Amino acid sequence: WLKRLRAGLGATSDKLSGNLAMIERRPLDDDMLEEIEDALIASDLGPAVAGRITAKLAADRFGDRVSEGELRELVAAEVERVLMRAEEPLEVTAFPRPHTILVVGVNGSGKTTTIAKLAHLFQEQDYNVMLAAGDTFRAAAVEQLQVWGDRLNVPVISTNVGGDAASLAFDALTKAWELGTDVLIIDTAGRLQNKQGLMDELAKIKRVLKRRMEAAPHDTVLVLDATTGQNALSQIDTFKEVAGVTGLVMTKLDGTARGGVLVAASDRSGLKLHAIGVGEKLGDLRPFDPRSFARALAG
Ligand code: GDP
Repeated sequence: WLKRLRAGLGATSDKLSGNLAMIERRPLDDDMLEEIEDALIASDLGPAVAGRITAKLAADRFGDRVSEGELRELVAAEVERVLMRAEEPLEVTAFPRPHTILVVGVNGSGKTTTIAKLAHLFQEQDYNVMLAAGDTFRAAAVEQLQVWGDRLNVPVISTNVGGDAASLAFDALTKAWELGTDVLIIDTAGRLQNKQGLMDELAKIKRVLKRRMEAAPHDTVLVLDATTGQNALSQIDTFKEVAGVTGLVMTKLDGTARGGVLVAASDRSGLKLHAIGVGEKLGDLRPFDPRSFARALAG
């Protein structure tokens, strides 16, 4: 997985390098600062991060000749700072059990796969896990979760297609509670086309969970697909609004030159960054080290 992550970050790094190399070398003036800022934004780091890096350059180095290497150093330092603040693996802290995690995100983001990977991660830590197939609209989503559940030997609570997701979530929490399950992970629908409908549904799920267990859900995790670039950022705003997201998982960092979006996403949202997806297999969800990530990204 490290190799695949490096490949993804290598592509991101090449893109950053290409964007910075476009800039004509001359003593740092306002025009050049603007070009650098644009290059950083084009590398998906986001306007806020790009702005801070160029502000620092303007304050410290105005009128100097600055090499690409020095620029990359600055980028690496800023990226590391942002990720250090955000990085926080998911932990099973709830007492009494179950620690309840609601997983949200648009269809195709890697939500189902991430749920299976999380279940695997918790199993490795000797916790027992239960899954709830709360995306009751898509028969395929329920089936896919069931397949993962069978592979992991984990119970999957489901209902008929079109069934009420909130009562399913309530039933699952009740079962997990009775069985003394450590972690309950609840899948949800990802139909952003009907924002109001989705918002109502997620709000209702949260309401009924709280009826059973005041602190549930303990985490509301948004799954984002790095390859969608700027779309991932607008999804954060939407899901913060519709679901009260508490943390992020970013998937598909293995196959994209858009790794910079991880930095923009954590910086802009202020949310915890729990893990990254670096492949399609169970072991491919990883906590990450901000320093080596920053180094790999800035090259
Ligand atoms: P959902 O519709 O959000 O539930 O998405 P799925 O979990 O079905 O994932 C959609 C596709 O993305 C599947 O083919 C997954 O195998 C793939 N996928 C998920 N996470 C990753 C990842 O981190 N890296 C790669 N390369 N593929 C991923």
